[in-house]
Amino acid sequence: MTAITLNRTPSPPTPERCSNCGEECSESLRLCQVCSFDLGAPNVRAAHRLIQTEEVAKRFRIARESSQSRGVSREFDALADAVERESHVIIAVPAFAARAFFQDRRTLYQGYEALVGSGVRTPAPQDFDAERHAVSGKLFGHYAKNIRYGVLSLNNYSLKNYGPVHIQLKDIAVKNRVSFLFENSYLLFRQLDVRANMPFPFGYKCSWLNKKELVASKLEPNLLSGSSKTEWGNSLVNNGKTRDEDRCIEAHIYDSFNVDAVQNVEFTDDGTSRHDKLDIKIIKELWSPRKASGWKP
Ligand SMILES: [Zn+2]
Repeated sequence: MTAITLNRTPSPPTPERCSNCGEECSESLRLCQVCSFDLGAPNVRAAHRLIQTEEVAKRFRIARESSQSRGVSREFDALADAVERESHVIIAVPAFAARAFFQDRRTLYQGYEALVGSGVRTPAPQDFDAERHAVSGKLFGHYAKNIRYGVLSLNNYSLKNYGPVHIQLKDIAVKNRVSFLFENSYLLFRQLDVRANMPFPFGYKCSWLNKKELVASKLEPNLLSGSSKTEWGNSLVNNGKTRDEDRCIEAHIYDSFNVDAVQNVEFTDDGTSRHDKLDIKIIKELWSPRKASGWKP
């Protein structure tokens, strides 16, 4: 893994302005509070800030130079190209939740914060719940409840510790509202020793537009001569024994989506319990006619 270097430069004080009315707008709201113009997903706007994109570009340049000195520049360029053209956002879901999602087009996919906040599910045990809210709050503030989590993948699979049903979202459904984080957010917070009262370091977030820079620079230190997409895919979505040991480029999707946003579905197993087996069987039955009808990206 790339040696982590910190850049704790405070946020520049320049305010964001609405391109419609010209007034100062909140960087954490989607709609301008003056004219209600759609400013775009706030997580993507945060990733597009110049100081972020410059740090990511710098990381990419350093990694490319390293690949040249190690004699793996051909693999590095091919990896960056594969990420640009062939990587997609995948979410891993427990069978029971995936079944409900596939059964009804009116069902919207919800994240943990939204489910707990709306009273649909109980919180995780206190320590986990508190850490989850601390991490998502530091990353997103009040709009943490709007974020759905997935990973960026080169091989159609997400992290299996989150469930056996791996749902690939259409690029068109996410590319304007997804941002990416260098690592599983829990791990990254521990590695960077992020505290509540310090700015989050720059250079660890990107958008759909510059994702190849973040991914290629992250994977470069372990890039081997002669390696190919199979190895890169396994490094990009690296399953640990537990969620704590999972490694990934985390995808943050602003707001929800329904089954029409799905491009593909894969399964890591057919279920272990009787309920899971039944749920997965039904998901396959529901998905099959959609796939057969020429489901378009
Ligand atoms: Zn405005």
